[in-house]
Amino acid sequence: MKPFTYERSTDVQSAIGAVSARPNSKFIAGGTNLIDLMKVQVETPAHLVDVNHLPLANIEDLEGGSLRIGALVRNSTLAGDIRVRERYPVLSEALLAGASGQLRNKATTGGNLLQRTRCFYFYNTAMPCNKREPGSGCSALQGLNRIHAILGASSECIAVHPSDMAVALTALEARVETLSADGKTREIAMTEFHKLPGDTPEVETALKPGELIIAVILPPPPPGGQAYRKVRDRASYAFALVSVAVAGDQIAMGGVAHKPWRATKAEQALRSGADPAAAADAELVPARSYGGNEYKIPLSRRMIIRTIAQAKENARG
Ligand code: SF4
Repeated sequence: MKPFTYERSTDVQSAIGAVSARPNSKFIAGGTNLIDLMKVQVETPAHLVDVNHLPLANIEDLEGGSLRIGALVRNSTLAGDIRVRERYPVLSEALLAGASGQLRNKATTGGNLLQRTRCFYFYNTAMPCNKREPGSGCSALQGLNRIHAILGASSECIAVHPSDMAVALTALEARVETLSADGKTREIAMTEFHKLPGDTPEVETALKPGELIIAVILPPPPPGGQAYRKVRDRASYAFALVSVAVAGDQIAMGGVAHKPWRATKAEQALRSGADPAAAADAELVPARSYGGNEYKIPLSRRMIIRTIAQAKENARG
């Protein structure tokens, strides 16, 4: 690990000021991904600003039936919150499908959104990787790519976003609330928060330098059932090969793209009266295999069909 300096902040503006004031500074909260990346020198911050003591760990009801989740709410707390379990069960299920109990106790809502891909080559500094070192090439294109994207990829990067939580938040049409160094807050729709790789796979989110996630806002749940299903290589502590979140008639997918994938074509097809199989087919028209990940296309189709059915079953109780 490269040497770095460290400070702890207790108020939001000074944390943002500290990161903005020093080049190559980063916020650290649970650190469940950042520390791993620092150990293998994929991340080499010169300065860390610890935000664990900021007052951002509450879950509050908002007028109109929305729920505001502070950025420092731990994944285990969020999954167990009675309002989440009753009104947003897809989110609780997605959280409990991710990581391990110990990691969920440490990992935060904001940090979960910012975790980075688990592409093997991203972690291996001996191999070319455009995300880690822009312009060096993408080792996964011709390499081991069974965990990689089938939708929205580019010739520069075919990595996928690893979060389960973010897939449920996308299906629920959550918004990410941020604060910048100039004191301005803004809300970013989940569909706009993460980026597709395009020519700049190193740019992963809409955050500006020094901008801090302070909360995630869940609108009132849509009518209809909810469900989260995840296929992975082992029964726990593994990232999704393919996952699907359904909330009413809103659908998102994980493990298939550089960002949580809102399945708008499947949603439109369902609204037009198509059956779930036809809806899945509509979504997967642009799906592309890179060799090792070909299985994800039929798997995604089955997952969309099955998760829609599960959500309907859950609505019936
Ligand atoms: Fe790097 Fe993306 Fe290629 Fe993986 S898929 S090697 S993260 S550029």
